[in-house]
This record gives sequence, structure tokens and C-alpha cells, in this order.
Amino acid sequence: MNDCIFCKIIEGEIPAAKVYENEHVMAFLDISQVTKGHTLVIPKVHRENLYEMDPETARNYFEAVPEIAKAIKAEFDPVGLNLINNNGELAGQTVFHFHSHLIPRYGKSDGLG
Ligand code: 5GP
Ligand code: ZN
Repeated sequence: MNDCIFCKIIEGEIPAAKVYENEHVMAFLDISQVTKGHTLVIPKVHRENLYEMDPETARNYFEAVPEIAKAIKAEFDPVGLNLINNNGELAGQTVFHFHSHLIPRYGKSDGLG
């Protein structure tokens, strides 16, 4: 039985605010917004972390990332954007389905320094 939260979001069993979707990836707002428009990007196939990513999954995944960044820019109009990926508990990974954080930055007012 797969009890992965992000697989459940892909299957529509858990709701999420979708930002972007294609055949291979889904992007949705993080439930805990670090800044307005904080988005998670996931492959539709379950891969625990970067070490489990195969070339085809990685290609399909990273091909979509600029499109998603542009969608965020169009919707939220940030000044900058961080792309962050945590692998392993020690590195801060809490959901073990590979994902990147796209964190829009708005300047001093965004609270991230
Ligand atoms: P990590 O710490 O693994 O890099 O990031 C996991 C992220 O997933 C966290 O920022 C957390 O807020 C987010 N998250 C956890 N559960 C859910 C959920 O059910 N829905 C959404 N949209 N985000 C979630
Ligand atoms: Zn999963």
C-alpha cells in the first residue's frame, strides 16, 4: 500500500491548489506558505529523492521547471525566486517523494532576509 502524501495528491485523493500540470509533473502550492506562491514541483512517478531519480524522469521533471517558474511569475509577480531541494532527513526532507520548492521572493518584506 502506498501511503505517500504526494502520490495521493497526484491521484486526487488529497486536494491541492494546482499551479501547473503536464503528463509527467505536477506543481501545487505548499500547504505551509513560506512566501506567497510557495510551490512544490513533483514527478508523477514516485521517487524518494534525487538518488532515486533516473535520467528520463529527471529530464521530464526539469524540462517543466522553467514553465512553472514562469507561471508563478505571471501569477504572483515576485522580484526573485529560490529553487530548493532537500534530500534525506538530515537535509530537511520531510516528505519522501522527490520535490523541489519554488519560493517567490519579494524583497525585505518577504521575511526571508
Ligand atoms: P520538505 O521539508 O520535505 O522539503 O518539504 C515538504 C513540504 O511539503 C513542506 O514544505 C510541507 O509544508 C509540504 N506539505 C506536507 N504535506 C502537504 C500536503 O498535504 N499538501 C501540501 N500542499 N503540502 C504539503
Ligand atoms: Zn509518492
